[in-house]
Amino acid sequence: MSLKIAVIGGGITGLSAAFFADSKIRESGLDAEYVLFEADNRLGGKISTDHTDGFVIENGPDSFLARKKSAAELGGSVGLNDTLVYNNATSAFIYNSGSLYPMPGGAIMGIPTQWSPFLATGLLSPKAKLRAAADLVLPRTKKGEGDRSLGEFFRSRLGDEVVDRLIEPLLSGIYAGDINDISLEATFPQFQKMEDKHRSLILGMKSSLAKGPGESSGKAVKKRGMFQTYTGGLDSLVEAVSGELRKGAVRTGTAVKQIEKHGEEYLLRFHDGTEEAFDRVIVTTPHHVTASLFGDDPGLAFLRDMTATSVATVAMAFDESAVKEDIEGTGFLVPKGNGFTITACTWTHKKWNHTAPDGKILLRAYVGRPGEEEIVDQTDDEIIDVVLQDLNRIMKLDGKPAFHRITRWYDSMPQYRVGHKQRVTELKEHLCSKWSGVFVAGASIEGIGLPDCIDQGKKAAEEALSAD
Ligand SMILES: Cc1cc2nc3c(=O)[nH]c(=O)nc-3n(C[C@H](O)[C@H](O)[C@H](O)COP(=O)(O)OP(=O)(O)OC[C@H]3O[C@@H](n4cnc5c(N)ncnc54)[C@H](O)[C@@H]3O)c2cc1C
Repeated sequence: MSLKIAVIGGGITGLSAAFFADSKIRESGLDAEYVLFEADNRLGGKISTDHTDGFVIENGPDSFLARKKSAAELGGSVGLNDTLVYNNATSAFIYNSGSLYPMPGGAIMGIPTQWSPFLATGLLSPKAKLRAAADLVLPRTKKGEGDRSLGEFFRSRLGDEVVDRLIEPLLSGIYAGDINDISLEATFPQFQKMEDKHRSLILGMKSSLAKGPGESSGKAVKKRGMFQTYTGGLDSLVEAVSGELRKGAVRTGTAVKQIEKHGEEYLLRFHDGTEEAFDRVIVTTPHHVTASLFGDDPGLAFLRDMTATSVATVAMAFDESAVKEDIEGTGFLVPKGNGFTITACTWTHKKWNHTAPDGKILLRAYVGRPGEEEIVDQTDDEIIDVVLQDLNRIMKLDGKPAFHRITRWYDSMPQYRVGHKQRVTELKEHLCSKWSGVFVAGASIEGIGLPDCIDQGKKAAEEALSAD
């Protein structure tokens, strides 16, 4: 009898799981079939692109890290190579006490690798620069085994000011979290490895740059940027991947309510009252949904208790003439404690050429961070007013946008707290013993970036097809 696999969730993780299951079944002639269930009426989850008046507006993610190859490879295998582009890598800025400062050249994730730009920056005090240089002589900071927070790690190596003004805005921009809570092991284990091997983070980073000209080296960054996307928008990836799936294998508008174990089978109960049995189940929904699918099983408590930050993206289209004072660069980050509501703004039309028609500009601001999430609940008009007020403290904008798109993403940024990796291991062990043949993957589990989600989807498909 044919092996039946259910994939729950049609975001990039679920789509990847279905895509790789499909390829493997076809290539190896396996007697297996899969069905992907998506609650919404569209696929893509957090990936959502708006195409209005020649603009390409990303409502969720706008790109992926080029260093992690799986997103570009997935796009390549569905015929998107021709539309794959790198971002323009002119200066990005950090705001502090009334001024914008260019990101110091050679600072990778805030870790200095070139001394002259680091010493020259006005973003940091002389004392902070001296403290960061102490990384070169300080002993290894790790006391015993186990995880610790990104904040604790970077503060101990480079000092508070470098963390608060440079590293925190960069990292919390990615995780929308408090770096004093976020797990080092689950997010950037390579930095711990650097300390283990080289003792100094600065020396470790320099050594990793010296090994190859990859996109993280200062030189390559200048040439072509560290990120990639598709000129047709990230939804072109969703469309192309879903277009490769078996006819009839995708059921949108179908929310799964519960997974029940019946002997060797799993019965999926749907919100419309129907049910269907499967041999394997891949669950790629956000963690609070995933936990609810397993009833009150205490083995899923970790996902039930996990928190997530609500954020919103605020895209605004203007005529070029609306900008009274132009700044050369791709955008800026605002560290906490500067009295701003926005956490960052991308000058999208400068970062990505394809996103705005000639003569137009596209700005994308971000709001919402831990402890400052109530802004997400405000009306569009209120949000636009606050965002314009903030932007006008930095750049001179004339009037209101021609149109805007505000996308509220409630509980969308899962928080990987210290100990996350260990709890994921325990969760997987629990599933293996009590729910053998059920696999969890996605943004809440082993990486929130698009390439990480794709890798997880692929791995889950392989496990589902090979499990006994
Ligand atoms: C504003 C924002 C900006 C971001 N920017 C970037 C970026 O630039 N680069 C990057 O790499 N990453 C970025 N990320 C992170 C990245 O977009 C996400 O981590 C990733 O898209 C998550 O994919 P996923 O498939 O795991 O989950 P999701 O995209 O959340 O997909 C889960 C799917 O499950 C469905 N679902 C829910 N309940 C049920 C149910 N009961 N039954 C069936 N289906 C259900 C949902 O409708 C959804 O489609 C960003 C995230 C946000 C919110």
